Amino acid sequence: MNEAAARRALVRYSHAMSAAGFVANHDGNLSARLAEDRFVCTPTAFAKIDVSLDDLLVVDAAGQRLAGAHKPFSELALHLAVYQARPEVRAVVHAHPPSATAFGAAGRPLPHPFLPEAVVSLGAEIPLVDCTLPGKPAVEALRPFLRRCDAVCISGNGVFAWGPDLETAYLRLELVEHLARIAVAAAPLGGVSRLPEVMVVDLVARRAKAGLAAPDEGRASVENGKSPDNRSASTGSDTAGRAAERALAGIPGADPALVARLAEQLAAGLAGR
Ligand SMILES: [Zn+2]
Repeated sequence: MNEAAARRALVRYSHAMSAAGFVANHDGNLSARLAEDRFVCTPTAFAKIDVSLDDLLVVDAAGQRLAGAHKPFSELALHLAVYQARPEVRAVVHAHPPSATAFGAAGRPLPHPFLPEAVVSLGAEIPLVDCTLPGKPAVEALRPFLRRCDAVCISGNGVFAWGPDLETAYLRLELVEHLARIAVAAAPLGGVSRLPEVMVVDLVARRAKAGLAAPDEGRASVENGKSPDNRSASTGSDTAGRAAERALAGIPGADPALVARLAEQLAAGLAGR
Protein backbone atom coordinates (compact mmCIF):
# COMPACT_ATOMS: atom_id res chain seq x y z
CA MET A 1 0.00 0.00 0.00
CA ASN A 2 1.45 3.39 -0.93
CA GLU A 3 1.52 6.24 1.57
CA ALA A 4 -1.46 8.11 0.12
CA ALA A 5 -3.66 4.99 0.25
CA ALA A 6 -2.45 4.16 3.79
CA ARG A 7 -3.28 7.69 4.92
CA ARG A 8 -6.78 7.54 3.43
CA ALA A 9 -7.40 4.16 5.11
CA LEU A 10 -6.16 5.48 8.47
CA VAL A 11 -8.59 8.40 8.35
CA ARG A 12 -11.43 6.18 7.19
CA TYR A 13 -11.01 3.60 9.98
CA SER A 14 -10.32 6.28 12.57
CA HIS A 15 -13.74 7.75 11.76
CA ALA A 16 -15.32 4.27 11.61
CA MET A 17 -13.98 3.51 15.10
CA SER A 18 -15.66 6.64 16.40
CA ALA A 19 -18.95 6.03 14.57
CA ALA A 20 -19.09 2.49 15.93
CA GLY A 21 -18.82 3.75 19.51
CA PHE A 22 -15.52 1.92 20.07
CA VAL A 23 -13.87 5.04 21.56
CA ALA A 24 -14.59 8.02 23.80
CA ASN A 25 -12.56 11.13 24.54
CA HIS A 26 -9.13 10.71 22.86
CA ASP A 27 -9.16 6.89 23.08
CA GLY A 28 -7.92 4.69 20.31
CA ASN A 29 -5.01 4.72 17.90
CA LEU A 30 -4.24 3.35 14.45
CA SER A 31 -1.06 2.83 12.46
CA ALA A 32 0.07 1.38 9.14
CA ARG A 33 3.47 0.21 7.94
CA LEU A 34 4.87 2.12 4.95
CA ALA A 35 8.26 0.36 4.84
CA GLU A 36 10.17 -2.00 7.11
CA ASP A 37 11.00 0.79 9.57
CA ARG A 38 8.58 3.56 8.61
CA PHE A 39 5.01 3.92 9.86
CA VAL A 40 2.14 6.37 9.48
CA CYS A 41 -0.13 6.82 12.51
CA THR A 42 -2.84 8.89 14.15
CA PRO A 43 -1.76 11.76 16.44
CA THR A 44 -2.18 11.84 20.23
CA ALA A 45 -4.92 13.91 21.87
CA PHE A 46 -7.39 13.74 18.98
CA ALA A 47 -10.95 12.44 19.02
CA LYS A 48 -10.88 9.78 16.31
CA ILE A 49 -13.77 11.48 14.49
CA ASP A 50 -11.63 14.63 14.08
CA VAL A 51 -8.55 13.01 12.53
CA SER A 52 -7.87 14.27 8.99
CA LEU A 53 -5.17 13.49 6.42
CA ASP A 54 -3.05 16.47 7.50
CA ASP A 55 -3.07 15.39 11.16
CA LEU A 56 -1.30 12.06 10.54
CA LEU A 57 2.37 11.65 11.33
CA VAL A 58 5.20 9.41 10.19
CA VAL A 59 7.49 7.69 12.70
CA ASP A 60 10.46 5.31 12.57
CA ALA A 61 10.85 1.94 14.30
CA ALA A 62 12.06 3.68 17.48
CA GLY A 63 8.95 5.89 17.55
CA GLN A 64 10.82 9.05 16.52
CA ARG A 65 8.72 11.46 14.49
CA LEU A 66 9.91 11.86 10.90
CA ALA A 67 7.03 13.98 9.59
CA GLY A 68 3.83 15.62 10.80
CA ALA A 69 2.95 18.52 13.08
CA HIS A 70 1.47 16.55 15.97
CA LYS A 71 2.91 14.17 18.57
CA PRO A 72 2.67 10.36 18.47
CA PHE A 73 0.39 8.61 20.99
CA SER A 74 1.87 6.97 24.09
CA GLU A 75 0.78 3.43 23.11
CA LEU A 76 2.90 3.63 19.94
CA ALA A 77 5.43 1.32 21.66
CA LEU A 78 2.80 -1.43 21.61
CA HIS A 79 2.19 -0.95 17.88
CA LEU A 80 5.95 -1.00 17.20
CA ALA A 81 6.33 -4.20 19.24
CA VAL A 82 3.72 -5.84 16.99
CA TYR A 83 5.53 -4.71 13.83
CA GLN A 84 8.87 -5.92 15.21
CA ALA A 85 7.51 -9.36 16.10
CA ARG A 86 5.47 -9.75 12.90
CA PRO A 87 7.28 -8.54 9.77
CA GLU A 88 4.23 -9.39 7.61
CA VAL A 89 1.86 -7.18 9.65
CA ARG A 90 1.07 -3.86 7.98
CA ALA A 91 -1.57 -2.37 10.30
CA VAL A 92 -2.37 -2.19 14.02
CA VAL A 93 -5.53 -0.76 15.58
CA HIS A 94 -6.53 -0.17 19.18
CA ALA A 95 -9.83 0.95 20.73
CA HIS A 96 -11.97 0.50 23.84
CA PRO A 97 -15.13 -1.17 22.45
CA PRO A 98 -17.40 -1.38 25.51
CA SER A 99 -18.29 -5.08 25.67
CA ALA A 100 -14.83 -6.51 24.95
CA THR A 101 -13.30 -3.89 27.24
CA ALA A 102 -15.79 -4.94 29.95
CA PHE A 103 -14.43 -8.50 29.90
CA GLY A 104 -10.90 -7.17 30.39
CA ALA A 105 -12.00 -4.75 33.11
CA ALA A 106 -13.69 -7.65 34.91
CA GLY A 107 -10.49 -9.70 34.59
CA ARG A 108 -12.26 -12.32 32.49
CA PRO A 109 -11.01 -13.73 29.18
CA LEU A 110 -13.58 -13.81 26.37
CA PRO A 111 -15.29 -17.24 26.41
CA HIS A 112 -13.97 -17.81 22.86
CA PRO A 113 -14.32 -20.03 20.84
CA PHE A 114 -18.09 -20.45 20.58
CA LEU A 115 -18.73 -19.53 16.91
CA PRO A 116 -17.00 -21.60 14.19
CA GLU A 117 -16.54 -18.66 11.80
CA ALA A 118 -14.71 -16.67 14.46
CA VAL A 119 -12.14 -19.46 14.85
CA VAL A 120 -11.36 -19.25 11.13
CA SER A 121 -11.05 -15.45 11.36
CA LEU A 122 -9.18 -15.14 14.66
CA GLY A 123 -7.83 -18.57 15.58
CA ALA A 124 -8.71 -20.38 18.80
CA GLU A 125 -7.13 -17.83 21.11
CA ILE A 126 -8.14 -14.28 22.02
CA PRO A 127 -6.02 -13.90 25.16
CA LEU A 128 -6.50 -11.53 28.04
CA VAL A 129 -3.23 -9.69 28.66
CA ASP A 130 -2.47 -8.61 32.24
CA CYS A 131 -3.14 -5.03 33.33
CA THR A 132 0.16 -3.18 33.78
CA LEU A 133 1.52 0.34 34.01
CA PRO A 134 1.84 1.99 30.58
CA GLY A 135 5.13 1.88 28.64
CA LYS A 136 7.67 -0.91 28.97
CA PRO A 137 5.61 -3.13 31.34
CA ALA A 138 2.69 -2.99 28.87
CA VAL A 139 4.99 -4.03 25.99
CA GLU A 140 6.46 -6.90 28.02
CA ALA A 141 2.98 -8.13 29.01
CA LEU A 142 1.86 -8.11 25.37
CA ARG A 143 5.01 -9.59 23.82
CA PRO A 144 4.34 -13.33 24.52
CA PHE A 145 1.13 -13.15 22.43
CA LEU A 146 2.34 -11.25 19.39
CA ARG A 147 3.27 -14.23 17.22
CA ARG A 148 0.46 -16.47 18.50
CA CYS A 149 -2.64 -14.52 17.59
CA ASP A 150 -4.01 -11.47 15.76
CA ALA A 151 -6.15 -9.84 18.46
CA VAL A 152 -5.91 -9.50 22.24
CA CYS A 153 -7.92 -7.93 25.04
CA ILE A 154 -5.82 -6.08 27.62
CA SER A 155 -7.11 -5.98 31.17
CA GLY A 156 -7.75 -2.36 32.18
CA ASN A 157 -7.35 -1.21 28.57
CA GLY A 158 -9.14 -2.34 25.42
CA VAL A 159 -8.59 -4.44 22.30
CA PHE A 160 -5.54 -4.49 20.04
CA ALA A 161 -5.79 -6.15 16.63
CA TRP A 162 -3.39 -6.35 13.69
CA GLY A 163 -3.25 -7.71 10.19
CA PRO A 164 -1.93 -7.45 6.63
CA ASP A 165 -3.89 -4.22 6.03
CA LEU A 166 -6.03 -1.73 7.93
CA GLU A 167 -9.32 -3.25 6.82
CA THR A 168 -8.37 -6.71 8.16
CA ALA A 169 -7.04 -5.28 11.43
CA TYR A 170 -10.21 -3.21 11.91
CA LEU A 171 -12.51 -6.14 11.05
CA ARG A 172 -10.69 -8.26 13.64
CA LEU A 173 -11.22 -5.57 16.27
CA GLU A 174 -14.88 -5.34 15.27
CA LEU A 175 -15.27 -9.13 15.46
CA VAL A 176 -13.79 -9.29 18.98
CA GLU A 177 -16.36 -6.71 20.11
CA HIS A 178 -19.17 -8.58 18.33
CA LEU A 179 -18.19 -11.82 20.08
CA ALA A 180 -18.13 -10.02 23.44
CA ARG A 181 -21.61 -8.61 22.80
CA ILE A 182 -22.94 -12.06 21.95
CA ALA A 183 -21.30 -13.54 25.07
CA VAL A 184 -22.95 -10.84 27.21
CA ALA A 185 -26.33 -11.44 25.48
CA ALA A 186 -25.99 -15.18 26.17
CA ALA A 187 -25.06 -14.71 29.85
CA PRO A 188 -28.68 -14.57 31.14
CA LEU A 189 -29.37 -17.70 29.06
CA GLY A 190 -26.65 -19.64 30.86
CA GLY A 191 -23.67 -18.39 28.88
CA VAL A 192 -22.25 -19.39 25.50
CA SER A 193 -21.30 -23.01 24.87
CA ARG A 194 -17.71 -23.53 23.93
CA LEU A 195 -17.21 -25.39 20.66
CA PRO A 196 -16.21 -29.04 21.08
CA GLU A 197 -12.43 -29.46 21.01
CA VAL A 198 -12.58 -31.74 17.95
CA MET A 199 -14.37 -28.99 15.99
CA VAL A 200 -11.87 -26.33 17.11
CA VAL A 201 -8.95 -28.51 15.99
CA ASP A 202 -10.55 -28.94 12.55
CA LEU A 203 -11.31 -25.22 12.19
CA VAL A 204 -7.78 -24.26 13.22
CA ALA A 205 -6.42 -26.68 10.60
CA ARG A 206 -8.63 -25.07 7.92
CA ARG A 207 -7.42 -21.64 8.99
CA ALA A 208 -3.80 -22.76 8.69
CA LYS A 209 -4.49 -24.30 5.26
CA ALA A 210 -5.97 -20.98 4.11
CA GLY A 211 -2.74 -19.26 5.16
CA LEU A 212 -4.47 -17.28 7.92
CA ALA A 213 -2.67 -18.68 10.97
CA ALA A 214 -0.32 -16.53 13.05
CA PRO A 215 3.32 -17.76 12.90
CA ASP A 216 3.35 -19.39 16.36
CA GLU A 217 -0.38 -20.02 16.66
CA GLY A 218 -1.27 -22.80 19.07
CA ARG A 219 2.10 -22.70 20.82
CA ALA A 220 1.56 -21.99 24.50
CA SER A 221 3.81 -19.60 26.34
CA VAL A 222 4.79 -20.09 29.97
CA GLU A 223 4.34 -16.36 30.60
CA ASN A 224 0.65 -16.53 29.76
CA GLY A 225 -1.37 -17.01 32.89
CA LYS A 226 -4.73 -16.03 31.47
CA SER A 227 -5.38 -18.32 28.53
CA PRO A 228 -7.66 -21.20 29.57
CA ASP A 229 -5.60 -23.67 27.51
CA ASN A 230 -2.40 -22.67 29.26
CA ARG A 231 -3.84 -22.77 32.72
CA SER A 232 -4.83 -26.38 32.24
CA ALA A 233 -1.52 -27.16 30.51
CA SER A 234 0.26 -26.14 33.70
CA THR A 235 -1.59 -28.86 35.61
CA GLY A 236 0.10 -31.48 33.48
CA SER A 237 -3.20 -33.13 32.52
CA ASP A 238 -4.27 -31.24 29.43
CA THR A 239 -7.47 -32.92 28.38
CA ALA A 240 -8.99 -33.29 31.82
CA GLY A 241 -8.03 -29.71 32.70
CA ARG A 242 -9.58 -28.26 29.57
CA ALA A 243 -12.76 -30.28 29.95
CA ALA A 244 -13.11 -29.19 33.56
CA GLU A 245 -12.41 -25.58 32.72
CA ARG A 246 -14.91 -25.56 29.85
CA ALA A 247 -17.60 -26.89 32.13
CA LEU A 248 -16.84 -24.35 34.84
CA ALA A 249 -16.49 -21.36 32.50
CA GLY A 250 -20.17 -21.76 31.55
CA ILE A 251 -21.26 -20.60 34.99
CA PRO A 252 -22.54 -17.01 34.59
CA GLY A 253 -20.63 -14.54 36.74
CA ALA A 254 -18.08 -17.13 37.81
CA ASP A 255 -14.87 -15.70 39.26
CA PRO A 256 -12.06 -16.59 36.81
CA ALA A 257 -9.50 -17.23 39.56
CA LEU A 258 -11.92 -19.56 41.32
CA VAL A 259 -12.74 -21.31 38.03
CA ALA A 260 -9.02 -21.84 37.37
CA ARG A 261 -8.48 -23.22 40.87
CA LEU A 262 -11.49 -25.55 40.67
CA ALA A 263 -10.43 -26.69 37.19
CA GLU A 264 -6.97 -27.60 38.48
CA GLN A 265 -8.45 -29.51 41.40
CA LEU A 266 -10.88 -31.30 39.09
CA ALA A 267 -8.15 -32.08 36.56
CA ALA A 268 -5.91 -33.47 39.30
CA GLY A 269 -8.81 -35.61 40.52
CA LEU A 270 -9.63 -36.85 37.00
CA ALA A 271 -5.96 -37.55 36.17
CA GLY A 272 -5.56 -39.55 39.38
CA ARG A 273 -8.57 -41.71 38.72
ZN1 LIG B 1 -6.26 2.15 25.32
